Amino acid sequence: MEFICPVCDCEVPAEGNEKAGDLLVCPYCQAPLLVKKDKGKGELTLEEDY
Ligand SMILES: [Zn+2]
Repeated sequence: MEFICPVCDCEVPAEGNEKAGDLLVCPYCQAPLLVKKDKGKGELTLEEDY
């Protein structure tokens, strides 16, 4: 399972047990990223959280 960083478009490795509200840090641009659940598809996406 991987996320795509919305800031730099790099893949952010995930452990697979992330849930909405978790915070990740992009290993490439160091941006803090908030895990959000897409209401339409139910997929988890990342949103920058400055
Ligand atoms: Zn990034």
